Amino acid sequence: MINDTYRRRAEIEPCYETRSRPTALQIYQWLPRTNCRECGEVTCLAFAARLLLGEQSIGRSRPLFTGEYRHLKEAMLELVAALGYAIPEET
Ligand code: SF4
Repeated sequence: MINDTYRRRAEIEPCYETRSRPTALQIYQWLPRTNCRECGEVTCLAFAARLLLGEQSIGRSRPLFTGEYRHLKEAMLELVAALGYAIPEET
């Protein structure tokens, strides 16, 4: 990938837009905040912190994709994509 990027360097237009990385607390705001532990973490904040580090997958928070918390799903998927992490297909 590095070699391919180097070969295409003349075609690549740099982006000078500054993007700020969300914090664990910002991610936490978009989680169900029930601390249900379905994801294997003790709290939703712990899940948010590990998601930020790429150590958790958004797909593990099943309540986000079912029932009363589905309205949070799109915002979370956008956040995950902005972080550069893969979005699980089953979402
Ligand atoms: S599964 Fe989702 S709602 Fe439950 S504790 Fe984990 S992050 Fe929070």
